[in-house]
Amino acid sequence: MADTPELLDLAGIGAGPFNLSIAALADGLPKLSTRFFDRQQRYVWHEGMMLPDTHLQTGFLKDLVTAIDPTSRWSFLNYLVQHRRFYRFLNAELSTVSRAEFSDYLRWAAEGLDNVWLDHSVREIDHDGEHFRLRTDTRTFQARHLCLGSGKTPWLPVFAREYQSEYCLHAESIAWRARDFTHQRVVIVGGGQSGADIFINALRGHWGPPKSLHWLSRRRNFQPLDETAFTNEYFTPGYTSQFAELEDDVRRREVSAQKYASDGITPAALTGIYQTLYHRFDVMNEPRWAHLLPHREAVGMTRSSGAFVLEARHGTTGVLERFDADVVIFATGFESALPECMAPLMDRMARDTNGEPSMGEHFMLDWEGGGDSRIYAVNAGRTRYGIAEPQLSLMAWRSAVILNHLSGEAPFDLEDDPGPIVWSPQSPQSS
Ligand SMILES: Cc1cc2nc3c(=O)[nH]c(=O)nc-3n(C[C@H](O)[C@H](O)[C@H](O)COP(=O)(O)OP(=O)(O)OC[C@H]3O[C@@H](n4cnc5c(N)ncnc54)[C@H](O)[C@@H]3O)c2cc1C
Repeated sequence: MADTPELLDLAGIGAGPFNLSIAALADGLPKLSTRFFDRQQRYVWHEGMMLPDTHLQTGFLKDLVTAIDPTSRWSFLNYLVQHRRFYRFLNAELSTVSRAEFSDYLRWAAEGLDNVWLDHSVREIDHDGEHFRLRTDTRTFQARHLCLGSGKTPWLPVFAREYQSEYCLHAESIAWRARDFTHQRVVIVGGGQSGADIFINALRGHWGPPKSLHWLSRRRNFQPLDETAFTNEYFTPGYTSQFAELEDDVRRREVSAQKYASDGITPAALTGIYQTLYHRFDVMNEPRWAHLLPHREAVGMTRSSGAFVLEARHGTTGVLERFDADVVIFATGFESALPECMAPLMDRMARDTNGEPSMGEHFMLDWEGGGDSRIYAVNAGRTRYGIAEPQLSLMAWRSAVILNHLSGEAPFDLEDDPGPIVWSPQSPQSS
């Protein structure tokens, strides 16, 4: 008789930072059996974008656990102490941690946590009427509940998809292989942080000195990330909780108005770019081979005489411009999609008016489920929970919300004192 597969309370698909945070907090809850599967053999955080001189947009105290359980051994501070560099970290006076160091912190946690299994790709998930059944490459598991944390999928404009290759690529794969841009005409499309990270590296000759470098952005200018105090109040449990209670169309409107609270370029990166441009082209008088082109929307692409021709519409005049390029890099963001392994359950997943998986309370997806089997999801509820949802800022809080709900015992204290801003209407005050 075949062995009965192991039954877990919670199976996590993916162990990126978001599910890893749940794994780290669940490590202190021995009554729950949890396991998080990640296909990576050697854990690296967004390895395809691991470029020199790239930094977190988020403070390092917003790590896997600290906001909820600062005594957890999986904090960034403990990582520093365990690696015997606490004092040097302080002496370095870093205003932001490098992406390389944060990735190593995540690796340390992923490799140290017993409930994280690396090198395990989840291939298929179905439900047998009582439990979920997960198939990895080598084994089958049962789970009472799931947490989807497989991340987002790179998004390329439709016109570029047929050209996708070593020379026409999405930003997320730029660091996958050695590249040589020497004497090449390079065009970068996309004015967010990834576009900025690639531009500064190309400008500094990380892939060899290009012949020309054009950086196009649909935005009106190279817009900064708004990191000021009151904007950062969007990234608090209090704001998020009241946001989640708003009407659907109001939430969508508010999220889109808050774009630069999460999608701009850090002021430090913008200053670094400007100073590098100034030094090279104004002080050292190099011929101006790097060009910044805001308010341009890339609208088409062709291939002619072995080169790409990228077409862009100018925002204020409507003029169509053409850029010849040997290499085109699209830093055009990511889209949400349910992981392929969910295919057997896809028809049972409810969709919202935009066709996206519909998310209810406690970060649970709505589905025609079997009994009490729940599907939690992280990084999937931007219009339900607000702009903090795809960011690191509130991951520990979200993990605690999910684990409190899952365990039914509220092991984590989620109460926070009200902040300085009154977001919701107040009832009339009696004099
Ligand atoms: C380059 C970059 C930098 C960023 N920097 C910041 C920042 O500074 N601050 C901030 O707040 N946000 C930042 N973000 C946004 C966000 O915080 C990150 O994208 C974050 O990594 C999202 O975490 P995640 O766990 O949802 O997904 P991911 O980090 O994408 O992790 C998903 C994991 O799932 C695994 N997986 C997928 N499918 C399967 C499967 N079938 N079986 C097993 N494993 C699977 C993958 O191997 C991967 O490890 C950044 C995003 C990018 C792209």
